Amino acid sequence: MIEQLHANRDLPDVDLKKLIETSLYDQELFRHADEVRREYYGTDVYIRGLIEFTNYCRNDCFYCGIRWKNLKLERYRLSKSEILCCCEIGYGLGYRTFVLQGGEDPFYTDEQISEIVAEIRKKYTDCAITLSLGEKSYESYELFFRAGANRYLLRHETANAEHYAKLHPVGMSLENRKRCLWNLREIGYQVGSGFMVGSPFQTTACLIEDLRFLQQLRPAMIGIGPFIAHRATPFNRFSSGDLRLTLRLIGILRLMFPNALIPATTALGTADPQGREMGLRAGANVVMPNLSPVEVRSKYELYDNKICTGDEAAECCACLSRRVRAAGYEIVMDIGNVRPLKEQLPQNHKTREKV
Ligand code: SAH
Repeated sequence: MIEQLHANRDLPDVDLKKLIETSLYDQELFRHADEVRREYYGTDVYIRGLIEFTNYCRNDCFYCGIRWKNLKLERYRLSKSEILCCCEIGYGLGYRTFVLQGGEDPFYTDEQISEIVAEIRKKYTDCAITLSLGEKSYESYELFFRAGANRYLLRHETANAEHYAKLHPVGMSLENRKRCLWNLREIGYQVGSGFMVGSPFQTTACLIEDLRFLQQLRPAMIGIGPFIAHRATPFNRFSSGDLRLTLRLIGILRLMFPNALIPATTALGTADPQGREMGLRAGANVVMPNLSPVEVRSKYELYDNKICTGDEAAECCACLSRRVRAAGYEIVMDIGNVRPLKEQLPQNHKTREKV
């Protein structure tokens, strides 16, 4: 099965199900995944400087600690100059990608976001600017793109509509989430999507739908991490997503999407102290150290016990460098664009991809 997945970048649903549901082939899977990641990226690991610039959110996703109904959370917003200060520190440390992530905060108008983006663009011509601000209109996405943003992260969270409805309040829909992703792609963004592993009510069939949706969207980046409960959410009693399953899915993703940018996420590092290292060995090739000011770190609390909330940017960077090296890879100071896909597939698969 794994050789078939490696060769065809695909497997029938029945085999995917088998592969997802057993740990028997994990070592074999990771070996193949690592071979493919080295073929495309060598031992390179790209870094993205994450700036969590607001924890205000108008949404009420049942899994997320910064949902607006969490009245216990102390809210914060960074000003334009504070964001620029994070970029300056990051640039000095070697970051060439800045990721501005936040809740869906109506306080920032499109004009303000565009101004922030334009300012970063003007100062750092050799950097990529990634936004992760949730669902916006086509027009808003277009404005940000024109201001100089080139990447956008928006996980689809789950590609099964019923499952989506169990994770989100009425008013949010998978349909809109998907529409946003297609819009972003059309505008010209390098798109990142992804899903949580082990979110409440998730089944193997949901995970297969996630993989199938990703085959349609073909995003440049695919971010996955285990679901981790947050005490002040309706999902506070659910157990966390399985670390092994998350690693297995990283391996599967690497074989299905050989050139993808796959981060070893903070949630993976929270699930296990060695989680990110294991993620890299399973096929991940990106890490996203935190550049947010230390004073606000702990307030961007998506789930309980989130790691790296106490370290200064420089410490965070040094710590991750060590971890990446210990896992057998090397952080590179590079803008870290996606590599082109090598076309080496059998004819029948190519035709399928085009459909
Ligand atoms: N508002 C932005 C950013 C969301 S936070 C957006 O809508 O895209 C970034 C990601 O954290 C989410 O996409 C989600 O997949 C993940 N996340 C949120 N709560 C989580 C939890 N309890 N456990 C694990 N991951 C979580």
